Amino acid sequence: MGNGVKVFSIGGIGIYVNWSWIIAIAIVTWSVGDFFHVTYPSWSTGTAYALGLLSGVLLFVTVLIHELAHSFTARANGLPVNTITLFIFGGVSNLTREPQTPRIEFLVAIAGPLMSLVLSGIFYVLYIALHGGPTEVTAVLGYLASVNLILAIFNLIPGFPLDGGRVLRSIVWAITGNLRRATHIASNIGDGFGYLFIVAGLLEAFVGGDVIAGIWLAFIGWFLHNAATASYQQAVMDRVLIGVEVRNVMDPAPAGVGPSLTIQEAVEGHMMTRGTRALPVNGPDGSLLGLLTLSDVQQVPRDDWATTPASKVMTSLDHLQTTTPDAGLREALAAMAEHNYNQLPVVSNGRVVGILNRGHVLQWIHLREALAQKQEAGKS
Ligand SMILES: [Zn+2]
Repeated sequence: MGNGVKVFSIGGIGIYVNWSWIIAIAIVTWSVGDFFHVTYPSWSTGTAYALGLLSGVLLFVTVLIHELAHSFTARANGLPVNTITLFIFGGVSNLTREPQTPRIEFLVAIAGPLMSLVLSGIFYVLYIALHGGPTEVTAVLGYLASVNLILAIFNLIPGFPLDGGRVLRSIVWAITGNLRRATHIASNIGDGFGYLFIVAGLLEAFVGGDVIAGIWLAFIGWFLHNAATASYQQAVMDRVLIGVEVRNVMDPAPAGVGPSLTIQEAVEGHMMTRGTRALPVNGPDGSLLGLLTLSDVQQVPRDDWATTPASKVMTSLDHLQTTTPDAGLREALAAMAEHNYNQLPVVSNGRVVGILNRGHVLQWIHLREALAQKQEAGKS
């Protein structure tokens, strides 16, 4: 959901719209326009679908307000929020950190559905107040009142990562004091609702006869199932990585090579013998000049290996992403994932003190995770 176009920002929070939102607007325009067309035969077809489109756009605005309620509650509780992304199933507030206490998680999670309930109430009051006025106005108000009520109820389904799942997680977390178990329970319920929606959707499509609604429901179920699984893994990962520094996981610094060493010598004398994919290239004083990686080597034709110095093809320091021994492992891994690096040199005072290798780190995480589960099983 990270990929989207930034449309504007509110109070320093970037609002991104994923391309899939266009599909959502189209579906709302079509289905609401269709409903208006049947319900108000006196309207022209154009009016019905234009108001369908207006309803879709206003739904977009109310979903955004729902997300802003999450974001501003998070920020008021010391959790920075940089972006909100709107996509086909609604919105996501991208918290940079997980809430530190059950109370904060509860408040941040409940803020969105409460806001949707308030919006639904406001639209309902306006709908009643303007009753007898132009049907073009009351029809849209009635739609917004009911869709926001549905949004509030849907989001309160107690399955992680829906808002209701976060509310449930915060409550289990508060009772048991065990965030891992709370996450496990809430995401299993989320997964269960996902399957329930898929089954209900398929039944609706093939037995009930409403193919579009059924497929839509199944699609939401599939999304929920995926999101529950992914969020659980992410939550476990964040938990495992808390407080771990790069120095705890990095491999010891490989002996560097000089800048004039040829590719031939670097590959045969260092990379192959040590099974390493990246060699630090150091100056005469031992300071890091750059990193010679396997992909750098692959740029050079085989015939030129014996005559090309490492300094000519290495990734030089100014183009190199590096980390420090005391950096957080979570942040370092995020940087690697973002740039698709397999290794990151760990630099201290201009010298390479280690290499962070993605493969090794993942093995380490699996081991630590397995040990943590054993310990927990032992306790209960
Ligand atoms: Zn929400």
